[in-house]
Amino acid sequence: MSDVFHVLGYDVGGTKLAIGLASSDGRILGKARLDNKDTHPDDILPQLVTIGRKMVADAGLSMSDIRAFGISAPYPADPVNGVMTRPTNNPKWRNVPIRRYLEEALGIPGTFENDANCAALAEWFFGAGRGCEDFIYLTMSTGIGGGIIAANRLVRGRGFYAGEIGHVVIERDGIECACGLRGCYEAYCGGRAIAQRIQRELRDCPNHPMIQLAGGRLEDIDMIVLEKAVRAGDEYAVKFWDDMCRRNAQAFGFLLNTFNPARLVLGTFAWAAGDLFLEPIRRYLPQYAWSQTIADCELVPSELRRDIGYYAGAAAALNYLKERN
Ligand SMILES: [Zn+2]
Repeated sequence: MSDVFHVLGYDVGGTKLAIGLASSDGRILGKARLDNKDTHPDDILPQLVTIGRKMVADAGLSMSDIRAFGISAPYPADPVNGVMTRPTNNPKWRNVPIRRYLEEALGIPGTFENDANCAALAEWFFGAGRGCEDFIYLTMSTGIGGGIIAANRLVRGRGFYAGEIGHVVIERDGIECACGLRGCYEAYCGGRAIAQRIQRELRDCPNHPMIQLAGGRLEDIDMIVLEKAVRAGDEYAVKFWDDMCRRNAQAFGFLLNTFNPARLVLGTFAWAAGDLFLEPIRRYLPQYAWSQTIADCELVPSELRRDIGYYAGAAAALNYLKERN
């Protein structure tokens, strides 16, 4: 087992930070979480170093056993220089050169990738994408992010925007998206957009059963409430869900015929709602992709689920070492 080596990973989320120590054979040897709400980088960065070093020591290793670290962070960012430029949920984090800071403090090389790519890498090295040379991961949460592995490599694109699948336009002159385009896939199938749309549509229906399911508060309607209403057979919710599944099938069909992946690994909604979500998508898929590309592709929920953050940065580090060789 002498060829097994170790890496450290940091997942810098808008509200939480996850740190993981992993081995190249797919084990997690240490993990920790930190609150990252309304923080200042001057307080957080030194803690990342202290926690990382302690994790390495607690696992009976020394820093010389750690080959690299990886940072998973949201866009907007400067991935080439490893700088978090202006993360949406952290107003005090502006132009933070996080990679350089950690390289100097930890004394090992590091890499920086956007969080959706890191989630894909995490499933590739540790989860439902293991062993696939062609696979795609979709986050399916408040927004829809994606990471593409094609011919055994992460696809980044010329300006590092590859994988922005949530902002592929699926409806001409459609619903306005937060990104500025109209008719984006995310504007129809992202959790935040769905909640906003239902709240808008039910504003004048105070007695609607979905509002009751949300504890009487229109503003608390979300994907969980929608799923409950679908299971309860609410007519509006069932119709809404059906349309959402059809649009997901449309987007998946685009990916299947473009990349011909062996697996499409799906985040949050897919493992939270299970077959209620996946079955109608499988049923609609033949309208949007060829039978050959459907036959080649398994549609599966994420394996790492809520723990994906512990693996995200470490997976970026493993991929960095793989690409460097
Ligand atoms: Zn968009």
